[in-house]
Amino acid sequence: MPATAGGLILSGGLVSFPDLAALGEAVHDCRRCALGSSRTHAVPGVGPRNARIVIVGEAPGQMEDQQGEPFVGAAGKLLDQLLRGIGLSRAEVFITNVLKCRPPGNRDPLPEEAQACAPYLDQQLALIKPEVVLILGRHALARLLPGHDSISRVHGRVLFKNATAYIPIYHPAAALYNSFLMQTLEQDFQAVRTYLDRAARQPAPVPAASAAGGTDPDHQLSLFG
Ligand code: SF4
Repeated sequence: MPATAGGLILSGGLVSFPDLAALGEAVHDCRRCALGSSRTHAVPGVGPRNARIVIVGEAPGQMEDQQGEPFVGAAGKLLDQLLRGIGLSRAEVFITNVLKCRPPGNRDPLPEEAQACAPYLDQQLALIKPEVVLILGRHALARLLPGHDSISRVHGRVLFKNATAYIPIYHPAAALYNSFLMQTLEQDFQAVRTYLDRAARQPAPVPAASAAGGTDPDHQLSLFG
């Protein structure tokens, strides 16, 4: 079984890492797609190993590429503000992206790039085992919940996959460009608070879709109906 930086390449190209630090080292060395040659810094993600919440965005932008940290620009400030609004801080959540390296010019991720980078996000979720995954924007939605292809139709809802709650939300950057989305974004974060409070009071039931490992849209819990 061949070894990569801090991890093992398993059959089917899957990568297994013992912990987040080893995974981060591998990301910094990664050349699995062309973005590994154009980036300034890779951005594996940041946050506690035992975070209840993982936030998944699209890809690093210019400032993230320069600093090696996720969500450090204007969208990051808005994300911090939205988290504070529901009683959370950045220090409590793990923040990462579908792509760990910046696409030139902040263009959309290419399918082959998302596929090449997929093992890292899969491993992060497997290592952290969060209760809730916040999906920021349509690219993260397509990657994590394929079949739910419209963020406008599912934002603010709680969708279960393998007994983990996934809550799609508009990307904060979208609200910076379209101010009419700000109220929707705030409402969706309140949906996150509502879900966390509900989960704290009683263990979340495992819906039928979870047992099959699927995300059948018919097996979803919507907080807003
Ligand atoms: S985007 Fe992902 S797969 Fe591509 S080089 Fe960066 S870490 Fe590797």
